[in-house]
Formats: sequence, structure tokens, C-alpha cells
Amino acid sequence: MKPTKIEEPELIGGDVGSGVLILCDHASNAIPAEFGNLGLAEAELERHIAHDIGAAEVARTLARTLGAPAILSRFSRLLIDPNRGRDDPTLVMRIADGAIIPGNAAIDETGIEARLERFYRPYDDAITGAIEASLETDSVPAIISIHSFTPSLRGRARPWHCGLLFDADERIAKPLIAALSASGDLIVGANEPYDGALAGDTLDRHAGSRGLANVLVEIRQDLIASQEEAVNWGERLALALRPILAEPRVHRIEFHASRTRAGRALSKNAGAVDQAASTEASFADLMPALEASVYRRLVAHLRERTDVQNIDLMNLAGFCRNCLSNWLKDAADAAGQPLSKEESRALVYGMPYEEWRVRYQKEATEVQKAAFAAGAAHRQ
Ligand SMILES: [Zn+2]
Repeated sequence: MKPTKIEEPELIGGDVGSGVLILCDHASNAIPAEFGNLGLAEAELERHIAHDIGAAEVARTLARTLGAPAILSRFSRLLIDPNRGRDDPTLVMRIADGAIIPGNAAIDETGIEARLERFYRPYDDAITGAIEASLETDSVPAIISIHSFTPSLRGRARPWHCGLLFDADERIAKPLIAALSASGDLIVGANEPYDGALAGDTLDRHAGSRGLANVLVEIRQDLIASQEEAVNWGERLALALRPILAEPRVHRIEFHASRTRAGRALSKNAGAVDQAASTEASFADLMPALEASVYRRLVAHLRERTDVQNIDLMNLAGFCRNCLSNWLKDAADAAGQPLSKEESRALVYGMPYEEWRVRYQKEATEVQKAAFAAGAAHRQ
């Protein structure tokens, strides 16, 4: 068998008319010998900083089960990250999760260009080619990107089993969150552990900017570390995705206003200079995104502070997580995208409400109950 070249993406056939394309940006930790492991010890290359552990096998299984084509990178993200825009400062990582990458520390523009040409572009071009091949058969592909995340980052444990990342197009993410949450055994993050709106990332370049429905699935690495677990996850995802992918609306070209423009302007305020974004977006244009960002921060805060009980929130402020869920439901219903009570709660709690109660809700004290009763009278 001819040895596979690290530069050439792994292509899984499948039916180009299936209406689905599976991607795996961080499938491999391979680095050509002449890079000398970028100066890292072999053990570092086995870690999440070099690749998404388990993701490749999930992607392959998903493709096989759905009969869909898939494209997997065959080079380490440490060489160059195909899930970054070409002008993104983290395109070539100098430091990853605390480890300095000696072979990247002093890379210049010429060095980056050489890696773009050798690794990034062949993978990127393969995605473009597959999307175009699908469109030529009059099938609008939904793009599913498979990643995995480390169970703890910088000493912080991450509670989610998986996270669905998305920008403004929620056609797949929203029903998939509901489907995966429904089983009751999974903590499903919505835009956790990262926000899916990243200008220039793979899904922005290939899906969002072309109006293709898309979602990025992040699975916690310890759940897919073995081949068997990864295959199980691939099959589980396929099962959850099948009815969603059968909906004609995910195979329509629809443009959704990206959240990234506002995101860039926000990062400018944090110190990063992005003149273009600041002049193009007026403050009034930005306000809805700022408000949304505050909501996300509030929700993230409440998810973190599981010690704060709903009854305390009610007693002190007259609202709690369930009120917030109801407000979300009211807004969604008014916008013609109705949410059930369970769905809206899962979006606020980051897991089914019942599960949150079992995990974090404490028995209310007599004092809390009395204060709540007094407050209830007051709220009449
Ligand atoms: Zn990844």
C-alpha cells in the first residue's frame, strides 16, 4: 500500500447527493519528520494540543452510518490550524495550553505561508470541492464538523459531555441539542465550551458564508478515547441527526447574520486593534449583539455558580433561572420559533432541568421557605 501523505486529506467517499458533508479539522497529530516534532517531546503530541483525540473515529463512523462523504485532515493543528481564518493570530500556535511550541515560536510570514500552501490549502480546497460536487447534484449539503475537547483546561473541569457550537444559523444545532438532551444522560452545552461564532473558521468560511446549515459538535475526549467508544458516539450522533437531516429546511441556502462582526468589534474594545470592524459597525448596529453577549455571560455565570439556589435568587431579586427560561421561551414564542418549557430550561441550565435539580438543588431551609412565602404574598 502506498504510504499516505500528511498533506493529503483523508477522503471518505459516500454519496455526494446525501445532503451531508462531515468534516474533521483536527483528526491527526502527524507532523512530517523534518519538523522534528516542532521541538516537543513525543508525549506532548499525544495530548489534545496536537489533535482532537477520538474525533477522527467519530467522524468516520458518522460518515459511514449516514452514507455521507467526509474529509479529515491528516496533519497536526500544531503545524497550522485549519479551523482558523488566515489572518487569525492563533493560526500557528506559539503556546498551547501552557506548552511553548519551540518550532513555532519564531515563525515568520514566509514560514506561515509555506504551511498554508502545504497543509492548510489542500484540506480547504477538498472541502470546497466536496461542497461544489454536492451542489452540482442539486443537493445542498448540511455541514457537520466533529471535534473533541479536553475534560479540563487550565485546572478547570468542564461539566459537559458534548457541546454544540454554532453562529447564527441554528437549524441543526437547536434540534440537535434537544435530541441529545432528551436522553437525560448527557449534559449538552450550547456554544460551550467555546462560542461557535468565530470569523474565518472552517464553518464560517465554508458553511455560514454560503448559507449552508451547519453545526460543530464537540465531544469530551475521555468519552471517545477508545475506538469502541468513538464508534458508539458516531452511531449515537447519526441516530440523533437523521430526523433533523431529513427536514427540507436544512437543505436550503439561507443566510443568517453572523454574530462575528460584533464579536470583532468587542475584541477591539478589549485591546485588539481592528479598525475595519470599528468603523463599519455603528454602536446602534452593535447593541443587539452586546445585549446578547451580556445574556450569554449571565447564563454562563449562573451555570458556574451552582451554589446559588433558585430560591435565594427569588427571595433576593424576585427572579431565578426558571424565570430566565420563561423569558427566553416568551421571546422565542413571540419570534415565531416556539420553544417548549423543557427546551428553554435546558438552554439556560445547559442540561435537562431535572438533572440540574438532582445535581445541585439543595433542600430549602425553613428560613428560605418562610422568606419565599412572604415574597410570594408580596408578588401577588
Ligand atoms: Zn478541534
